[in-house]
Amino acid sequence: MSDDIFNNIYNKSLDLLSRREHSTKEIREKLLLRFDDCAVIDSVLTKLEKNNLISNLRFAEAYVSSRKRKGFGPKKISFELISKGVSESITNKAITEEGGWRKAAKRVFIKKFKNEKNSDAKDILKQKTFLQNRGFGFKEIESVFGDDMLWFIAMSYEVLARKYRPANFEEVIGQDHVVKALINSIESEKIHQAFIFSGTRGVGKTTIARILAKCLNCESGTKPTSKPCNKCSNTTEITAGRSVDFLEIDAASNTQVEKIRDLIETVEYKPAKGRYKIFLIDEVHMLSTASFNALLKTLEEPPPHVVFIFATTNPEKIPKTVQSRCLQLNLKTVNEEMLNNHLNQILQKEKIKHDDESIQLISKSANGSVRDALTILDQAIAHGNGKLDRNEVKKLLGTIDDSLLFELLEGIVDGDGKKVFDKLAEIEQLLPEYDVILRDLISILHQVSLEQVLNNSDSDDIKRISNKIDTEFCQLLYEIGMNSFSKFSVHPSPKECLEICLLRMLTFNPLQKLSENNQNIKPSNSEKKSLKKVDEGIKKAKTPLPKESSEEKFLNNNEDWVKLFNSLELSPFARNYFGNMSLFSHNDEGMILKADLNLGDVPENIMSEFKTTVESVFSNKINIKIEKGNVINSPIQLNESKIEKEESLAKDQISKDKEIQDFVEKFNGKIKPETIKPSK
Ligand SMILES: [Zn+2]
Repeated sequence: MSDDIFNNIYNKSLDLLSRREHSTKEIREKLLLRFDDCAVIDSVLTKLEKNNLISNLRFAEAYVSSRKRKGFGPKKISFELISKGVSESITNKAITEEGGWRKAAKRVFIKKFKNEKNSDAKDILKQKTFLQNRGFGFKEIESVFGDDMLWFIAMSYEVLARKYRPANFEEVIGQDHVVKALINSIESEKIHQAFIFSGTRGVGKTTIARILAKCLNCESGTKPTSKPCNKCSNTTEITAGRSVDFLEIDAASNTQVEKIRDLIETVEYKPAKGRYKIFLIDEVHMLSTASFNALLKTLEEPPPHVVFIFATTNPEKIPKTVQSRCLQLNLKTVNEEMLNNHLNQILQKEKIKHDDESIQLISKSANGSVRDALTILDQAIAHGNGKLDRNEVKKLLGTIDDSLLFELLEGIVDGDGKKVFDKLAEIEQLLPEYDVILRDLISILHQVSLEQVLNNSDSDDIKRISNKIDTEFCQLLYEIGMNSFSKFSVHPSPKECLEICLLRMLTFNPLQKLSENNQNIKPSNSEKKSLKKVDEGIKKAKTPLPKESSEEKFLNNNEDWVKLFNSLELSPFARNYFGNMSLFSHNDEGMILKADLNLGDVPENIMSEFKTTVESVFSNKINIKIEKGNVINSPIQLNESKIEKEESLAKDQISKDKEIQDFVEKFNGKIKPETIKPSK
């Protein structure tokens, strides 16, 4: 009988081992789930070990090499092995014998990261964090990026951000209520086992979690302290991100339930060195429902040595059942004044030359995040050769001098295309991002609209423009701006996207000043010519429908629609909405037009304007429906592509023109392709 049980267990073990390598501990746990005779299980394990069928060293070696192939670092893997019950000496042996860590890291990550084409140092910093989370040390990470110039820039960026990362609660800025609650709970020795730290990105959730971990595991006393020493090995290891008792998990990249199960499996093991084993799960709301359920069981009865810290930007996405088992602490965004003071103090301590405007600009663009403020400060100092200079800061932040934007907007209102593009050229010299230019322009239009209704602006520029611009036209410009802004992410060239947006704003100027201005300009004025072209294009297109087709009962195809549209007398508003649509069908049931998803719903009054106009052409009631979908060859698209074609033809002619080429060569010049516009 007992032999039967022994054989049964023995065979089951072989079965488990044949599927994959397991540590002795893992086999033991799996057997315990099926059989309850511990003595027999242990004798089976002894026999397996004697027969060399189970070997922790062999398991460790296989485990190390498979994890290494997936890009995990030695520290992370040794932590995992130890928590699987493999002894430290076997773990160390397997890890040391494996070798070639740098090569492995390089192979895995150079391939991954080089394909991503880092365009600035921030990308490198992101990847560095990624590697740190996988247990790679600084030296190993440096070996991956060391030959990349961006690495040096990234490291120089990090100086202040690293130096002034709070090491204890006293240094945390603007989170007094949270800090107080944590200190109280540590000092009264009532330590919660699960926390939720919520707040927007960069307010210090992980920083505070790290400080809490240090408080719990600091070796300076016999119990947790609210003032970690930052000198003992536990606290310094947490700072360096290599403590085996403080585990940071990014839920955004570990959504699978297995990962959380792995984690929960390790929960029951005692911490290796500290008093507590602390799990920090970042962006915890990204976990799947299954993962939350797995976690919930542990949260119901957590082992006394475990503390969970859940950091999240979205606390309401955490299941109520989990929330109710946690102490939730909301971190506030840090206000600009606090950031100003903080930056000021740092600059004084570091004896760095600075001016108030620079500090204010940085505080403003940090959006309440201390970390962002310090990173920008670091970058600004690097750009300003060791000092903080307002012009460098503006360049760095892509802040545009508003006066240039006001002049650009005035150019649009006046229908003065040359002025618009001259101002754009001036703005471009400040090297801002094109979407930032448009974003700022939209913001000005917003302020102008408010001023027109509420008379509430303090700015003379806003008042001036709001008096000058027609309210409806202002709304239209806002619409055009928003429409283009939504396309920035998909447009192959941000510069062209902005240019087309400005051209569109000029084209739809209802005052028709455009054509008057254009008659007075000299032929050398290239930009205006291109605008004239747009205007002519529209005028030409506006020729009424040919007689025979106006007698037709329905539009047969999109071409008919474009002709009809161009012949309609519509307000600029309606023109902007319906000019971006194409024809889907037109029959007895009515007319169905297709509109882009981004276009938004057509306001009621615009719809009725369009309906009345169309009905008067067909002298009949027409049911008009709009469907969302892909728009191909809308009247506005066709007009734009016609202009583009003519421009590229002009570029082509110029590059072939012998006289111009000789001229360019003689003066050692260059043709700016964007200044070439079609003539006639
Ligand atoms: Zn300590």
